[in-house]
Amino acid sequence: YVNLHHIRLLSYTEPIVTCETGEIVGFEVLARWNHPLSGIIGPDVFIPVAEDIGLIGRLSEQVIGEALRDAAAWDPNIKISVNISPSQLTDGWLAQRIVRMLAETSFPAERLVVEITESSLFADIEFARSIVTSLKNQGIRLALDDFGTGFSSLSHLRSLPFDIIKIDRSFVTNVSSNQQPAAIVRAVLSLSSALHLPVIAEGVETENERAFLMREGCHEIQGYLIGRPQPIASYAN
Ligand code: C2E
Ligand code: CA
Ligand code: CA
Repeated sequence: YVNLHHIRLLSYTEPIVTCETGEIVGFEVLARWNHPLSGIIGPDVFIPVAEDIGLIGRLSEQVIGEALRDAAAWDPNIKISVNISPSQLTDGWLAQRIVRMLAETSFPAERLVVEITESSLFADIEFARSIVTSLKNQGIRLALDDFGTGFSSLSHLRSLPFDIIKIDRSFVTNVSSNQQPAAIVRAVLSLSSALHLPVIAEGVETENERAFLMREGCHEIQGYLIGRPQPIASYAN
């Protein structure tokens, strides 16, 4: 029996690098739960539960706070990306709480990227817009996560002031050998270049995928080819 109100999450991080040179430009923070019996459990399992019982806000803040504290002393060019789940975008205090965490950890707002999935914009776009505007006013940057998987990806790009597009892993997988994902990735890259938005491709697992993305002008990549999610301490320094 585990009392969910007492759980502590771990902050794992996955490197984000430039496609061309492999230089590390940032880390995405990914929550993990070290379950006393089952070991390390991924967010796909516990986040839906945490959302249901209203714990996602507190748990996410734990993870974000830990990452900001650890990364505050790192190279100032390294950005930290954090994930916000759909129910957090209905919390009117979210922006204030993130800003307070920045102040408490002395982490510059310009180095923080907040990733929002397309599916979270589905519920109440006007409310989401007010949160997003507060975050942007602080200098925080905004990424549209899982791009292409939602209902109306293009209208989301237009309606909110995103700074970065993240191409979903499902399009990156086999991009170098399958025509359909390749066509979609090309289309996203040409759209983003027309909009002057940088792109991060996620879930890059093979050198062929990396080479394809580089040829097509993708700026940054992440995935198992570059590095798996690790406890944040193992990337320090
Ligand atoms: P996401 O933001 O799309 O995160 C990327 C997921 O893809 C991560 O799974 C990562 O481990 C996995 N991944 C990265 N590279 C590769 C690859 O090359 N191959 C494969 N097969 N997988 C790869 P993870 O850590 O299980 O996270 C799942 C989702 O949970 C994330 O999707 C994110 O939306 C959410 N999440 C993670 N941490 C948090 C958090 O602290 N708060 C909230 N609200 N959501 C979180
Ligand atoms: Ca993400
Ligand atoms: Ca994603």
